[in-house]
Amino acid sequence: MTDSLVVDSLKQLIEASNSIMIVPHLNPDGDAMGASLGLNHVLKQLGKKVSVVTPTAYPVFLSWMKGTDEAVNFEEDAPLALALLNKADLLIYVDFNCLKRAGELEKEILKLDVKKAMIDHHPYPDDIADVMVSVPSCSSTCELIYHLINKMGWNQYVETNAAECFYTGIMTDTGSLSYNSSNPETYRMVAGLLEKNIDKDKIHQLVFHSNSFSRMKLLGHVLGSKLILMPEQGAAYMWLDKNELQQHDFKPGDTEGFVNYPLSIEGINVSAFFMEQDDKIKCSFRSRGSFPVNKFSELHFSGGGHRNAAGGESTSSLKESVELFITQLPIFYNEFKNDDI
Ligand code: 5GP
Ligand code: MN
Repeated sequence: MTDSLVVDSLKQLIEASNSIMIVPHLNPDGDAMGASLGLNHVLKQLGKKVSVVTPTAYPVFLSWMKGTDEAVNFEEDAPLALALLNKADLLIYVDFNCLKRAGELEKEILKLDVKKAMIDHHPYPDDIADVMVSVPSCSSTCELIYHLINKMGWNQYVETNAAECFYTGIMTDTGSLSYNSSNPETYRMVAGLLEKNIDKDKIHQLVFHSNSFSRMKLLGHVLGSKLILMPEQGAAYMWLDKNELQQHDFKPGDTEGFVNYPLSIEGINVSAFFMEQDDKIKCSFRSRGSFPVNKFSELHFSGGGHRNAAGGESTSSLKESVELFITQLPIFYNEFKNDDI
């Protein structure tokens, strides 16, 4: 899965460092947080000083993971995040491959003259680190990190807490092993994590069965009143404005997974979700089959991601962003059909 030379370089970089800072992407999901916290626990076992700084808040449904209370949210406590950043002699980027995904933290990172490593599974990486571990075929960054730890001979440093974090990322990035998970190696990893005494059913329960009443009502609202189909393109889209979010007591992570629901409608293979935030519109795209939502997002919403799961953003209004989708999707769809990108 990984080149031994790259693994050796990463190992040397870690061994030569004392103070390591781990940075996941903004709006971190289960994989980004699982990878950051799991790696944090393992590196601490190795005797390193480690901190996790998230560019923005993590979802509430991940707060049970060990280490979340020590993770610093740059948006919430910039002075502490910057103090930690300035002490670090190694930065490790996890689950992203272009610096834009570090949000407002990007310009702080660019000021630093320290070693950097990247561990990620998204396609088309930018050259952002001294050591780049990029494996797009891997189910999740969590699987990739667990694989790297094993290759570095550090499996004994993976305790139950770290294993729980790694399992969370594999589970959330594969829809509980329902997609991107046909490589037997993924199950060998899961077997290894089970041997670390994780309770996988409990993790599933904690992540997927801890909805607040208001999140459930928000889901009902968006599916009931804000879901539009584009049958000719086998597409669907939904949107939520700030008012609707406020009315449903929105908490970070509450809309996670909403974009997947329309894909369970017969004949729908592309789904889009637009959400109004303070400074921008956050867009999420999902597809089934060969339709490359990452290319579509890159082209029209300054985004990217995987072929079947991508995101982006827009600085236009919510209405304009949705209209852009409605006008551009058929054009892209027709070109895609002709070229089979
Ligand atoms: P989500 O819709 O869950 O936010 O993101 C889906 C996938 O697309 C994730 O793998 C995420 O890392 C990636 N992604 C989300 N937003 C962006 C973006 O603005 N730029 C890029 N390059 N990737 C994104
Ligand atoms: Mn991921």
